[in-house]
Amino acid sequence: MEKFNGGHYNTDFDPSAPPPFKIAEIRAAIPKHCWVKNTWRSLSYVLRDVLVVSALIVAAMKFDSWFFWPIYWPLQGTMFWAIFVLGHDCGHGSFSDSSMVNSLVGHILHSSILVPYHGWRISHKTHHQNHGNVEKDESWVPIFVMWLDFVTYLHHHGYTHKLPWYRGQEWSYLRGGLTTVDRDYGWINNIHHDIGTHVVHHLFPQIPHYHLVEATKAAKPIFGKYYREPEKSSPLPFHLIKYLIQSMKQDHFVSDIGDVIFYQTDPQLNKKNHHE
Ligand SMILES: [Zn+2]
Ligand SMILES: [Zn+2]
Repeated sequence: MEKFNGGHYNTDFDPSAPPPFKIAEIRAAIPKHCWVKNTWRSLSYVLRDVLVVSALIVAAMKFDSWFFWPIYWPLQGTMFWAIFVLGHDCGHGSFSDSSMVNSLVGHILHSSILVPYHGWRISHKTHHQNHGNVEKDESWVPIFVMWLDFVTYLHHHGYTHKLPWYRGQEWSYLRGGLTTVDRDYGWINNIHHDIGTHVVHHLFPQIPHYHLVEATKAAKPIFGKYYREPEKSSPLPFHLIKYLIQSMKQDHFVSDIGDVIFYQTDPQLNKKNHHE
């Protein structure tokens, strides 16, 4: 037995082996009400975020001094990220049953943080449909949001056991979706609308964000070892920095051959970094 993150993994477990369960079994395990979209509830999160953003702007104008700005930037950056996540629901159509409401709210929310909503929505759909497929996956290139870079990277890289990528016949929607990882962000979980529950979101993007924690809990017994329990966070997710650094040091390239592949390390690259 090998131990990490407080959990136990049998070293015999091969995360790239085809899972013994079907996507329909996971779907069936998730309670019915988790699939229901409530437009008013979704809008209440928009209201909450807009109020916090406004309060921060008022505070910034009131204090307008050298000590407040460095506090303001990460706080407001986190709130912009939260707003992005609500627009993300709109892009998946999980904000509301009305496609008109999804488009309108998504457009307004993303425009307010300078994200081109429809361009992002289309490429994000490609990302979900092809996740884990080394030839087809597409990650939208973010324009300015630091959080987006950080969180997106963490959900797709860097775990104690390397995450597999697939090619050709080996790839399936289920196997690809299972190669994402959940993360615990401590207090920020609630602020950024539980985007850390990424595995279930990847498989079923139609589930609204406010049901993802419950849906994940219900799906876990089916996932078994294919679910990688996230390391518990302290109030602020500083523990994630080590995953980020470790993954950047190790995950450099994937091979051009083979149908089940893992990130490999370029020794030259590390050497160069070391000498600089
Ligand atoms: Zn993703
Ligand atoms: Zn998504």
